[in-house]
Amino acid sequence: MIPRCLDCGAEMDGGQCAACGLTPAAAEILCRRRLLRRTAAFLLGALAFMPASHWYPPLELDSVLIFIGVVFFVTLGLAVWLERRARRREPMEALKRIFFALVIVPWLLGSLLVINGSFDTQKPEARVTSVVGKFSMPGVLHSSRLVVISWRSGRRVERVPVSRADFDRFRRGDAIEVQVQEGLAGIPWVYAVRRR
Ligand SMILES: [Zn+2]
Repeated sequence: MIPRCLDCGAEMDGGQCAACGLTPAAAEILCRRRLLRRTAAFLLGALAFMPASHWYPPLELDSVLIFIGVVFFVTLGLAVWLERRARRREPMEALKRIFFALVIVPWLLGSLLVINGSFDTQKPEARVTSVVGKFSMPGVLHSSRLVVISWRSGRRVERVPVSRADFDRFRRGDAIEVQVQEGLAGIPWVYAVRRR
């Protein structure tokens, strides 16, 4: 197999990259530096995603968080693996591209949720239901949910993301009104929760 430049992916010709002129050692350093920078950008994106997902909380916030969690661990695992390959100067072009694509996922998804909510000018639709349970997650996520009887067919309950104040205000058995908006991008989100 023809050796390839770790930095730009072009063929190495006689100990030098045919495209960028780097030696294998220099290409390794640049490649690892870029991996580190992208990993930092990814972590920043994941950090920024958490508050962004709570400004206009999607009704399916838990599924969104599970998806972001999977992306988080896959991307970090890939970063560690790529770093190891770079140190051994092994080819990694295809996986590097996948990694670079994954890096922007939290940024894209966070922006999508903010745009979905902030540009949504429709009136919220009131859904009358009752609280059947509640739970809150401590730690970095520190988010609270009211478990209510679902108004959608084929579902038993909805886990409605609410503020800490709403979480404390409502009890099991309370009749409430969940105000849901369709979302500009078609992702339903929770506008407010009121007592019926
Ligand atoms: Zn090169």
